[in-house]
Amino acid sequence: MSQYFSKRYQDLEPYIPGEQPQDQSYVKLNTNESPFDPPKEVIPVIREAARNIRLYSDPESRELRQAIADYYGLEPENVLVTNGSDEGLNYAFMAFSDEDHPIVFPEITYGFYPVIAKLNHIPYETFSLRDDFTIDIRDYEGLGKNICLANPNAPTGIALSLEEIEQIVRTNPDNIIIVDEAYVDFGARSCVPLLYRYDNLLITQTFSKSRSLAGGRLGFVLGAKELIADMNTLRNATNPYNVNRMTAKAGIVTLRENTYFKNSCQTIQFNRRYTRRALEQLGFEVLPSSANFLFVRIDRISGEELYLRMKEKGVLIRHFSDPKITDWNRVTIGTKVQMDIFLQKVEEIFREQDEEKEKTK
Ligand SMILES: *Cc1c(COP(=O)(O)O)cnc(C)c1O
Repeated sequence: MSQYFSKRYQDLEPYIPGEQPQDQSYVKLNTNESPFDPPKEVIPVIREAARNIRLYSDPESRELRQAIADYYGLEPENVLVTNGSDEGLNYAFMAFSDEDHPIVFPEITYGFYPVIAKLNHIPYETFSLRDDFTIDIRDYEGLGKNICLANPNAPTGIALSLEEIEQIVRTNPDNIIIVDEAYVDFGARSCVPLLYRYDNLLITQTFSKSRSLAGGRLGFVLGAKELIADMNTLRNATNPYNVNRMTAKAGIVTLRENTYFKNSCQTIQFNRRYTRRALEQLGFEVLPSSANFLFVRIDRISGEELYLRMKEKGVLIRHFSDPKITDWNRVTIGTKVQMDIFLQKVEEIFREQDEEKEKTK
């Protein structure tokens, strides 16, 4: 840390993203990207858009916001587009929470929430999950505080029902409820229909997971027009050209190719079921996931050791150092071929463990 770094940020612990090795030689199951390319129409429109790269993008991203609004049956004023949904989450925290309005989220959830709270000097509180890693919605009913929930939750993959989300939104009418739907397309119910009835709800979604555009950085926030306008004020004060012209076009085309999208989500769900069964047969405990990953553990090997041994064998999975989940690993669902390699390496590690035990007898 330099001697010049502002005191305000000296205690900030940055979010630690999953590894992004640049040599590309790993089977990469650690950061929940799609294993599939975006629809083939995407690359030509990116090329075309790049011809005007000397010009700024539209600061209001009108065409893209219209496309997203049409897709969800909303109006463009209900849509804020952002450089990944992380940027939208940051504005949602900044705009509606402060020293007098703390924000509440589960103790085990997306690691970015406490980071943006600290960055913006927003006090936050957490509720622990139940022993089975489910959220107890009674903690949040009538709480009278701003709330942020990932649905499905990360890294557990467990989803709340639409009725449960509605219960939380309905009983906190004077507070903002942020629902982070980064993984919703893989099998949970989206709470977009609630936007017609509640004006204290904000929904964030991303093109990074189910829509294969993680490297393009595109997310969006849906909500009542007044809330979106407030967040847009912050966006304009921070980064008015936050979505670049190539990504904006890629987003529009990706939304249009809906059959391709539905098929890839279905394939992920199929591969998830396949992987879950295989892991359970090997003795793993596997949480019921509605996302494109599985959260798994097994007594015979620690989360950290499984992660390290898998990495040696060329397969990246995610391990978190938080003591409450340090026994666990999060495994992204990839193609069937990738999942077979993953499963084969797990079995190999177990065999090696047995041999090592045999030797030390
Ligand atoms: C991946 C992820 C995001 C955001 O990703 P972006 O690439 O910034 O859109 C948000 N929330 C959760 C829970 C995620 O896992």
